Amino acid sequence: MTGQRIAVVGAGWTGAVAGRRLADAGFAVEVMEKTGVVGGHSRAETMAGVVYEPNGAHIFHTSNAAVNRFVNAHGLTRPYNHKVLTEVYLSPDDDDCDGRLLSWPPQVDELKELPIWPAVERELASLPSQPTGENFEDYVVSMMGRTLYDVFIRDYTAKQWGRPATELSARFAPKRVELRRDGCRGLFRDRWQYFPPNGVNEVIESVLSTVAVTLNAEISLDDADRLGQEHDAVIITAALDDFARCAGELEWRGIEMVSRYHPTDEPGGVVTPAYVTNRPSLRVPYTRTVETKHATGQQIAGTVVSEEMPGTPRRHYPVLTADGANERRNAELADQIAARFRIPVYFAGRLATYRYINQDEAIADAMAVADRVAADMQQISHSGR
Ligand SMILES: Cc1cc2nc3c(=O)[nH]c(=O)nc-3n(C[C@H](O)[C@H](O)[C@H](O)COP(=O)(O)OP(=O)(O)OC[C@H]3O[C@@H](n4cnc5c(N)ncnc54)[C@H](O)[C@@H]3O)c2cc1C
Repeated sequence: MTGQRIAVVGAGWTGAVAGRRLADAGFAVEVMEKTGVVGGHSRAETMAGVVYEPNGAHIFHTSNAAVNRFVNAHGLTRPYNHKVLTEVYLSPDDDDCDGRLLSWPPQVDELKELPIWPAVERELASLPSQPTGENFEDYVVSMMGRTLYDVFIRDYTAKQWGRPATELSARFAPKRVELRRDGCRGLFRDRWQYFPPNGVNEVIESVLSTVAVTLNAEISLDDADRLGQEHDAVIITAALDDFARCAGELEWRGIEMVSRYHPTDEPGGVVTPAYVTNRPSLRVPYTRTVETKHATGQQIAGTVVSEEMPGTPRRHYPVLTADGANERRNAELADQIAARFRIPVYFAGRLATYRYINQDEAIADAMAVADRVAADMQQISHSGR
């Protein structure tokens, strides 16, 4: 046993996994969570017994073998192949009130059946061999041509980000946008993909089952002295502008899931075409609908559909502008926070590092930070400090 005391701020995937890894290595860990439950952004809830996701659809996918072994050991094993549909209108005066349902990412074999195909085919023939462009719009147009960009991407991006795609960085385009020619309909190409029958709550609870957790404990920079007296190191997974009480200094793009219960005739019944259906059109204010029952396969009367409303002040997506200003500000905040503590401070996870990362990346981050903390603590204890 090392006995050294580690504070972890936040009990989402990152805090839970870092806390567990350090507790397994013999550290005295305390995970502090501001809400009354663990699981963070990935949590699922129930409405009239129906599992739904109040923070957006969360499909677990990874190609990282260590992460896969870890989640398997905590009960995340139910295979799931995630397929997304998108409801598109092919022209502004398309008066089909339901639009057309196509696969997401766009599939060339489906596009060939559409009246816009001749224009799309001409544009595809004149694209560069590799997509190029500094901003999101230029990059995506160079990947799929203007017609497909206008139908699938332009209005979705405007709704999602509340600013023209020309002001957004191209950096996140390769992770988010693709044109498929190989007929693969699954959204993710990762080796392992899961969806647990009740969402990930039970998995994260299992991770934390041997770790001391204090709920309803909102920690901020004002607690720096106390944490420094009671602990030997701290891992922060909270958003740094929130933690440092300087909200507004970092730009975030938030969503609100507007969730409603719908009765169904059959126990396994659903009311939308897919778990996730993208709705790029400006005819509706939301960006997609999420009906988690498609993924859980729950045999229960009724279902819950959530409309994902963009443009709320919540901290969901970091805003990666072409000039990188927000990432620089986050790094400055990290330095200012670390300077206020008398113990080593580590930052990890989607909020504190101001990155859009998937659950598997958050877990890998947590494993890496825990190993760094353990190595540093060993060095400190050997040097007798
Ligand atoms: C809309 C949306 C959809 C997503 N879909 C997917 C998906 O399909 N698949 C996928 O793999 N990933 C998805 N993700 C990413 C996934 O949500 C993250 O990878 C994951 O939440 C990261 O966990 P985390 O612990 O870093 O952050 P969080 O889950 O946000 O956990 C942070 C925790 O810290 C707590 N906290 C915050 N501030 C404080 C404080 N001051 N004091 C104490 N506690 C505090 C919070 O309450 C929270 O519990 C999605 C993200 C978004 C925004």
